[in-house]
Amino acid sequence: MSHSTFRFGTVPPITDPADLGTVLGIWAHPDDEAFLSAGLMAGATAAGNRVVCVTATLGERGTDEPERWPPDRLAALRAHELRASLAVVGVTEHHLLGITDGTCAAQPHGAVVRRLAGIVDAVAPDTVVTFGPDGMTGHEDHQTVSAWATEARAIAAPEARLLYATTTEEFVAGWLPARDAFDVFLAHGLPLRTPVSALAAELRLTRRELDRKIVALRAQASQTSGLLAAIGEERFRRWWSTESFVAAESVASRAREWGTWRVAA
Ligand SMILES: [Zn+2]
Repeated sequence: MSHSTFRFGTVPPITDPADLGTVLGIWAHPDDEAFLSAGLMAGATAAGNRVVCVTATLGERGTDEPERWPPDRLAALRAHELRASLAVVGVTEHHLLGITDGTCAAQPHGAVVRRLAGIVDAVAPDTVVTFGPDGMTGHEDHQTVSAWATEARAIAAPEARLLYATTTEEFVAGWLPARDAFDVFLAHGLPLRTPVSALAAELRLTRRELDRKIVALRAQASQTSGLLAAIGEERFRRWWSTESFVAAESVASRAREWGTWRVAA
């Protein structure tokens, strides 16, 4: 397996999802998997690979209108949206951990890791994809899920490739005009990015994969319709047309720095 011989900057990145083998995605909220890996999932399932997805919470607090969408109502909606979204990219195996949105860091760490390790063991993935220690947006749930996934893989599938979602300068350059309007990335309104030369996987989505990704994202309208309406589909497509991942081993030395990022609110 290539990760065991990984040397920084010397191994060409994976560019075809078919090369990922059985994929296990481990995410915090519905839509994380779609924004960061819908193209990967679509390409992998189209190639006949098995793809399994784990979602820690239903993101039931993910609304600006909590009176209209109290947690129990939003949880039910997002569960339906997630199921539809995963179906678009050919994923039928899904595990929900049932954790309350926003409470990942407060959960009993060892117990969740053991439970997740049981899923990892059962799936026997060749590739695990999740957030990096930065949590991509800086969300504490994301950072916690990254830590859980990293430990669970070390316990149950140490030979599996572990990929952390990241971004590149190209994404950041595209995102800059939206930085103030959409308070998504913390701190400074921008995500951490990785030099292209350090990527372990760089998936420039085919038109077909991107079409499916956009449908998968649209399926989670409670989270995506506002952004889509504000920026238009063309930019929306362009921004999420590449999915970038870095090998966990290559950021281990930076994990301490990345893990200090926190949501301000
Ligand atoms: Zn999330």
